[in-house]
Amino acid sequence: MKTEKTVKTIKIDVDKCNGCRACEVVCSAFHAQPRYSSVNPARARIRVIRDPLADIFVPVYAGEYTAAECAGRDRYTIDGKQYEECAFCRSVCPSRDLFKEPDSGLPLKCDMCESDPTLQEPLCVTWCLADALVYEERTALAEKAPAPADVDVGLEALANEHGWAKVLDAVTRMSVKMGRES
Ligand code: SF4
Ligand code: SF4
Repeated sequence: MKTEKTVKTIKIDVDKCNGCRACEVVCSAFHAQPRYSSVNPARARIRVIRDPLADIFVPVYAGEYTAAECAGRDRYTIDGKQYEECAFCRSVCPSRDLFKEPDSGLPLKCDMCESDPTLQEPLCVTWCLADALVYEERTALAEKAPAPADVDVGLEALANEHGWAKVLDAVTRMSVKMGRES
């Protein structure tokens, strides 16, 4: 059965990105526990893929966690510059360290700065003074939310990859954080 849902999008204009990394800084601060208590771009859910010599900066948002590597790879050539395989991929996978919480190794995912009260727009958009990031919302039809059994399977996949101790530790910290914010 289909239901209406809000699709949140951040449009990225690579030509406007100057590599300042303000988006990484504010994202890591917003998701610190307690909120704004620390800054560490390694914990950001957006990373800027840089090639200063070619003057190219590409912001990439953390997407879904996957326990398996891709069987095939892409290789991009843009303006004559070749990018490494996986450079622009949003997935959190075993191939690389990108979008993994540095202490626990658990996957990070962009949550569009969901919080209570709701922000007018994600903070990386607000703090991108170069206007390389633009926030948009639209309504779309989608399948109903996954049944609880799917959540169990997701947790089990995380536990197989990282161990139950790390997963439970992260869940506990999230619960404490939500308790503080409620
Ligand atoms: S804040 Fe904007 S200009 Fe700066 S690195 Fe991020 S996307 Fe690029
Ligand atoms: S939308 Fe929020 S959570 Fe996602 S990358 Fe930007 S600041 Fe981080």
